[in-house]
Amino acid sequence: MAELWSRLRKFWKNPRVRIVFWAALTGMLVGVTGIAQPAEDVLSGVRWAVRDERSDGKIVVVEQDNRTLDELGAIDVNRGNDADVLARLFAAGADRVFFDRGFMAAGKQEDDEKFISELKSAPGKVFLVASSAPDGRSGNYAGKLPLKKFRDYSGVVSSLIYYRPFNLNVRLPLVSDSPIGRIPSLSAKMAEVDGDPSQAYSPDFSIGVGSFPKLSYIDVMRGQMDPALVRGKTVLIIPAAVLFNDIHSIPGQRIDAPGGYFHAIGAETIKHGLPRELGWLPPFFLVLAVIISGLGRGRALDVYRLAGLAFALAATPFLFDFVRINVEVIPALAVALVAVVRMRNLDRVEEAGEINAGSGLPSVQALRNIDDLSPQILVGLKIRNYGAIIGSFAEHVEAQLANEIVRRIRISDEGVIVYHEGGMFVWLSNIRSTFDLFENLEGLHRIVQNGIQVGGLDIDMSFNCGVDSEFDRPLSSRVASAMQSAEEALRNDELVYQHDGRKHEAQWEISLLTSLDRAIDNGEVWVAYQPKLDLRSNRICGAEALVRWTHPERGPISPEKFIRIAEEFHRIERITRFVVNEAVGAAVELARLGYDLTVSVNISAQLLRNPGLPGMIGDILADHGLPPDRLVLEITETDRLDRSSRTFQMLQRLVKSGLRLSIDDFGTGNATIDYLRYLPASEVKIDKVFISAMESNKEDLLLVQSIIEMAHSLDRTVVAEGVETATVLEMLKRLRCDVIQGYYLSRPVPFRDLIEHIAHPKVLKAG
Ligand code: C2E
Ligand code: MG
Ligand code: MG
Repeated sequence: MAELWSRLRKFWKNPRVRIVFWAALTGMLVGVTGIAQPAEDVLSGVRWAVRDERSDGKIVVVEQDNRTLDELGAIDVNRGNDADVLARLFAAGADRVFFDRGFMAAGKQEDDEKFISELKSAPGKVFLVASSAPDGRSGNYAGKLPLKKFRDYSGVVSSLIYYRPFNLNVRLPLVSDSPIGRIPSLSAKMAEVDGDPSQAYSPDFSIGVGSFPKLSYIDVMRGQMDPALVRGKTVLIIPAAVLFNDIHSIPGQRIDAPGGYFHAIGAETIKHGLPRELGWLPPFFLVLAVIISGLGRGRALDVYRLAGLAFALAATPFLFDFVRINVEVIPALAVALVAVVRMRNLDRVEEAGEINAGSGLPSVQALRNIDDLSPQILVGLKIRNYGAIIGSFAEHVEAQLANEIVRRIRISDEGVIVYHEGGMFVWLSNIRSTFDLFENLEGLHRIVQNGIQVGGLDIDMSFNCGVDSEFDRPLSSRVASAMQSAEEALRNDELVYQHDGRKHEAQWEISLLTSLDRAIDNGEVWVAYQPKLDLRSNRICGAEALVRWTHPERGPISPEKFIRIAEEFHRIERITRFVVNEAVGAAVELARLGYDLTVSVNISAQLLRNPGLPGMIGDILADHGLPPDRLVLEITETDRLDRSSRTFQMLQRLVKSGLRLSIDDFGTGNATIDYLRYLPASEVKIDKVFISAMESNKEDLLLVQSIIEMAHSLDRTVVAEGVETATVLEMLKRLRCDVIQGYYLSRPVPFRDLIEHIAHPKVLKAG
């Protein structure tokens, strides 16, 4: 049982099997509901119009036409006229006479009697019709009978007609029920065919209205006709004048004619036996069988063969018409059509490998097939251990899981089409900025990390991404880059890896950025302190706080590098807040231990343009209760810094709040004496390039000397950074430098080590 079930499931997974199923279901619905009857009738109409059959002339139609009424000067013929017509017809040797007219009301006494006497003289040869009573039973019931005095001497036949929708076709019964029991239909009686009330047929409208011998009522009445025309014939008398309001369009013949012709054509149709009605099932099963047999042969049943089949199917009724067999082909055509269209699509998709069989998502191959350029960033998202995750669940879980992933991707990247291959999901992002995209991916990562619910199971997962924004390359090749970058990100345990063919370095730099917040939160980022020595008192007078990032796999990452990236992406504030907070905490701790030290922090120039900076620093100082003059802000001289600039105003605000400023890396920019004069800094730090070179280079020595003199003339403290040797230390002492900082004294160290260093200062020997 279970075996059977799983085989059925496998069978069902074959998309072709599913196509056949849906095609069959469609055809079945069309057939059962009869919804396509009009289409079937239109198709019949075409066939009737093409074929041109003629009546055999044995039914003669006598029309009560416009001329008849004109010449009688009446709005209808009367029973006396009918009596005359009967007399003429039988005199000419007519076999039988049918009136397609009700004789339900009495006329003038003498006319009625004249008519009855004619009936009496031709017993069993005249037929009057019963029609449906307006208030009577519906269906095959002719409730309105000719008057008893007439029908006592005539036959009674039913004139019921079933019109089909849009008058595209009619059906006629063979026998109808009536108040006097079963009566034959007009056409059946004319054709002398028996049947039962459940039977009905469609007249063969390829028999032209014009092919029936036709006489005018008035001519017959006056005996102005060739008796040979009616000798031995069946005569059908029909109302034909416009006044009678019985003009209909004749299906398949593009003409309007009196309704009586439906009966004439009907009789002509069944004269040689009833048409066989095969219905819709045989063609339906035939087509289904052909399609299914094609399935068995593995590869798609050739679409063109299928289309040919459909065409043949539409044509068969033509042939069948000749042998008087009616088939309904629309349901079968519907099956063929659905199968052709859907298999064609499937073929196309399969040829291109454009659907991922497991998830039902478009496959990455579909994206590779696109040779166009795109101005959108391409993202490759690789789920870690995708295979293991999928493997541990039932087959259908993959599709569900994939859909859940897609849904989440679309939360932050609306409306994207996600392509899938193995553990890789690829899409063209609608987000334009790389930075925003990275932030989104981080958000997505947080969401996914919390687990995805699929079929009541919680699936933990994690992913890495590669992005490609080389818009000048075709998508087909960018797909590879994005996917490779995702693999690279996975190897380096980074969330995102940016593919960049030109700047290889940039790749991991940007990916670093995305893990920065996480790094700050989990302690990978910390602060080192490098002591500063006051040369006059030979005491440690302060320390510079320097940010450090010790990556779990990559080890220490240079601050020069990640600070620059953070600045580029406007993420420096977060780092600065962290460092200032640590540094201020450290200063408080030092004061508590009884050391009178300042702590310096580096403030990037970009942040000086941020009006929130003084507030941020003020809050931190207040939180820890540190007087502002214990904190030194190191700023790097910037090129354009005139008195009216925002940065300049910011510096003044900071100084007014009691903080101290230091000009970092002095000498590397275009600093002038004038600049130094108006900048409200209390300290100047000579860049380490000059310090380390002054030992061997005379010019650098002179430069250092002049900076010191200039700074002193303006009452600024001078700090030399990058002091690595005793010689340099000695030279700086002689140049009256105030403070030194450098490896010779101490490398930047963790706070614990700084305290150790202050407590037990190493004896510095000047060279
Ligand atoms: P900086 O402010 O000029 O910091 C001095 C740099 O010189 C530090 O590099 C320090 O380790 C290094 N140094 C100290 N003594 C010596 C020496 O004797 N010889 C040599 N060769 N180098 C020495 P580090 O820590 O790599 O920092 C580099 C730069 O990164 C800093 O230059 C500063 O501009 C920036 N930075 C560091 N931390 C922060 C921070 O928290 N915020 C901001 N905005 N920038 C920071
Ligand atoms: Mg500095
Ligand atoms: Mg410096």
